[in-house]
Amino acid sequence: VIEKGTPDRSVVTTCAYCGVGCAFRAEMRGEELVRMVPWKDGKANHGHSCVKGRFAWGYAQHRDRVLNPMVRGAVDEPWREVSWEEAIAHVASEYRRIQKDYGTRAIGGITSSRCTNEETFLVQKLVRQGFGNNNVDTCARVCHSPTGYGLKTTFGTSAGTQDFDSVQYADVILVIGANPTDGHPVFASLMKRRLRQGAKLIVVDPRRIDLVRSPHIEASHHLPLRPGTNVAMLTAMAHVIVTEGLVDEAYVRERCDTEAYAEWAEFVSDPAHSPEAIEELTGVPAADVRAAARLYATGGNAAIYYGLGVTEHSQGSSTVMAIANLAMATGNVGKEGTGVNPLRGQNNVQGACDMGSFPHEFSGYRHVSDNAARAQFEQDWGVALDPEPGLRIPNMLDAATDGTFKGIFIQGEDILQSDPNTKHVAAGLAAMECVVVQDLFLNETANYAHVFLPGSTFLEKDGTFTNAERRIQRVRKVMEPRNGYGDWEVVQLVANAMGLGWTYTHPSQIMDEIARLTPTFAGVNYQMLDERGSLQWPVNAAAPGGTPMMHIDHFVRGKGNFVVTDYVPTDERTGPRFPLLLTTGRILSQYNVGAQTRRTANVNWHEEDRLEIHPHDAENRGIRDGNWVSLRSRAGETTLRALITDRVAPGVVYTTFHHPDTQANVITTDFSDWATNCPEYKVTAVQVTPSNGP
Ligand code: SF4
Repeated sequence: VIEKGTPDRSVVTTCAYCGVGCAFRAEMRGEELVRMVPWKDGKANHGHSCVKGRFAWGYAQHRDRVLNPMVRGAVDEPWREVSWEEAIAHVASEYRRIQKDYGTRAIGGITSSRCTNEETFLVQKLVRQGFGNNNVDTCARVCHSPTGYGLKTTFGTSAGTQDFDSVQYADVILVIGANPTDGHPVFASLMKRRLRQGAKLIVVDPRRIDLVRSPHIEASHHLPLRPGTNVAMLTAMAHVIVTEGLVDEAYVRERCDTEAYAEWAEFVSDPAHSPEAIEELTGVPAADVRAAARLYATGGNAAIYYGLGVTEHSQGSSTVMAIANLAMATGNVGKEGTGVNPLRGQNNVQGACDMGSFPHEFSGYRHVSDNAARAQFEQDWGVALDPEPGLRIPNMLDAATDGTFKGIFIQGEDILQSDPNTKHVAAGLAAMECVVVQDLFLNETANYAHVFLPGSTFLEKDGTFTNAERRIQRVRKVMEPRNGYGDWEVVQLVANAMGLGWTYTHPSQIMDEIARLTPTFAGVNYQMLDERGSLQWPVNAAAPGGTPMMHIDHFVRGKGNFVVTDYVPTDERTGPRFPLLLTTGRILSQYNVGAQTRRTANVNWHEEDRLEIHPHDAENRGIRDGNWVSLRSRAGETTLRALITDRVAPGVVYTTFHHPDTQANVITTDFSDWATNCPEYKVTAVQVTPSNGP
């Protein structure tokens, strides 16, 4: 007899929230999920979890889920429920009509970092093989695209260097632009254990994050720099390392491009880059910068962990390269306890990038103009492929408002809420003739959709996710899709309605194709994943068991490449009208725009987003704790309550963006990273004034 609430079976799967990639045992009773138990054999979590993975899965059963496809002629018409057959036929005929009327390149697609590798691979294949162009992009555009660019340019591969466990060998941990205790809690616990054992901590962040001072942990240095000055700060640290003779010269000589190093060393040695010279700019005392640089260079194994506070800037790619420069100069790449480690936000942001979701790259980061790579895909897919890079998300929106881009397929991504400058996104979507949104819920982007296709949750699908340490892990179907189809099946339906003749019957076959076409995944298959639990790419003939740590004897690109990263101030400037700088982040219990966590019990732990403001700035404006305030930028305005705290420095304000009412992206601007167009979410000039509420 099975008691109510007692599981009768369990399935091991992977959390679908953050880039840590915790493995869980989903305990089931019949078709009902009873509880999620952190799996002790999970290689990324070793039996630990946070409140999101453990408790925030109820959205799968939430009444808001849309379970039937819907179509409408215009976005001001009511939705009409239709069969899957009718919806898919409509999508295919609309895409074909648009291409006939406006040209092959008038449509595109957006893949999701929340979906599996197999699903993202199929969306980019649909675009390349079916649409006949490279207009595919992913939500990584707005988070870690500078990581891809920066690490590929310096090290030769667009991924972090170490596995998480490597932090146990670090003597110095430098955290920049990341808040691991809220954003990556399970990895943060591992890091904190090492810190309690005596490793030294340097935090570079405008805000006093919890790590700076928490039980039994006190950062040796907190450098609370002004938002937007990362490159100046890192160059000043490099200045100290080079001018005080702290470079690991043997490492540089043996492992790096010495000409590039010489050029870089000359650049950073300029007195204009000294900590004293940039003190006023960054707001950080020069002595603190010097001490932090010395500790990083001489304290033993030094590891850098960073997040979106590095990438979401107009100099995001430069910042990633400045970090890589520091690590190479001090010999801190290629051994345990060191490295350059991006903490990926979404569960599968690494995987979405690996799978060819960018408009210039096939899976495995090979440029679409690379004839050999393109020939490989052409032979496998039986079509000629476009050698021209396609449009990025912001360029698709620009082209739409210009009248040359007319249709899009958006899988698992709410660009109206999560992309910058909401007005710009809305204008682009409104100008299109066929917007297809596939999601769990009628999200904000769906307000501009002509077709809505129901999505499936991670509990309802088979596939793989790749976490921040390049670890590929299985996602296993726990229950049947409530909407009738897994997301990969929906993409296949669209592809076949467009005449592509795909015949996948299980995601394992998609992985076999990925392995066939992607050198870094050449040895990956479901049988090996099931046997080993997980694999870290590259997995191929040279590394059949995977690669926990990269660049051990040599960099993937050969010699490590130093890049001169000149500080260029963002065009987003403060002034009399907008005298404060806004930066953003998230909290432990919620996830991004909250589409999932707000539909679970976790919502009780976070009722609203607040604006953190320093006591001096609040007093100057007559604002008291809990008062409603108006937050205005050049792009727009929103209203939220004030939280007065000295966690932020004078001149800086901070908020989370988990509730749609906050509409933080109404006020963010169009400025973006020079190399990748990653939006500058972390720096917005604003004014804050008392308000009567929304
Ligand atoms: Fe999920 Fe990340 Fe929490 Fe792990 S740390 S349970 S992967 S949200």
